[in-house]
Amino acid sequence: MEQRLPEVVMPDCPVNKLLMGQKAIVTGANSGIGRAVAIALGHAGADVVVNYVVNAEEADAVCLEIERCGSRSLAIQADVSSEEQVLSMFSRAVETFGTIDILVNNAGIQRDAPFEEMTLEQWRQVIEVNLTGQFLCAREAIREFKRRGVNSKVSCAAGKIICMSSVHEIVPWAGHVNYAASKGGVMLMMKSIAQEVAPYRIRVNSIGPGAIRTPINRPAWETEAAYDKLMKLVPYKRIGEPEDIARAAVWLASDEADYINGTTLFIDGGMTLYPGFTENG
Ligand code: NAD
Repeated sequence: MEQRLPEVVMPDCPVNKLLMGQKAIVTGANSGIGRAVAIALGHAGADVVVNYVVNAEEADAVCLEIERCGSRSLAIQADVSSEEQVLSMFSRAVETFGTIDILVNNAGIQRDAPFEEMTLEQWRQVIEVNLTGQFLCAREAIREFKRRGVNSKVSCAAGKIICMSSVHEIVPWAGHVNYAASKGGVMLMMKSIAQEVAPYRIRVNSIGPGAIRTPINRPAWETEAAYDKLMKLVPYKRIGEPEDIARAAVWLASDEADYINGTTLFIDGGMTLYPGFTENG
């Protein structure tokens, strides 16, 4: 049974705009977590590129919501697994906004199958979007951050990257081997990039969501039975909402988090606390 807990409410058009003057790209920003992150960055004062691959009208709706609080936005269609499309997205973004200060590498997919039935196509699709896509976007962002350097009027860092990882960067996931492998890859990619570019005052971190209510995992929460089963994995006994991730992304991208580099912030209601051991294992 879904518990009646207070709603997660974001302040509307907050006055304290932590990201004023910054320019951001959020990939896969027309749905779920990416949508909430793009809106929250916008409401925190950033101008935001809303990347999408299909469903332009959803991207336009996100742009309208960002603009309602006074920030600029730009919807750009690009498949993050295509080098050509990523290069063109970044050059359009820089042309329009002048630079990029924040990348949220959010786009991701699942193509689940029992391991022995997993096709090469299912393996490749997930690795190409979830891992190669993050590599391509991070590389373009780092190039732009290094070209521009620190602009202390805007941020004390030259740039910030947030990779949307998952609890499955550390928790094995039977039936989802391609997905877990992609997120495990994101973890060491993120840490290695962070190590390499830290001297340029560039911060690279991940967010590791647990179970968040979005289209990607609808079967896990849409029926009462599925929700109850899911709650066995969540000590905090509620599903996460996209806004739980969005608020943290704003903070992690801001100068409030300036000394945080090369780490994953798990936002999972305790899913990584080995809930199977709650009653003495
Ligand atoms: P979602 O399906 O709502 O959003 C995924 C977004 O990625 C969509 O906008 C989709 O169009 C986009 N996308 C897919 N392929 C793309 C491509 N080739 N190029 C550009 N965009 C592409 O799901 P979500 O839950 O919001 O997922 C967002 C991220 O959060 C993913 O990386 C996912 O792995 C991660 N995540 C989600 C959960 C959860 O419980 N929902 C948990 C852990 C991690």
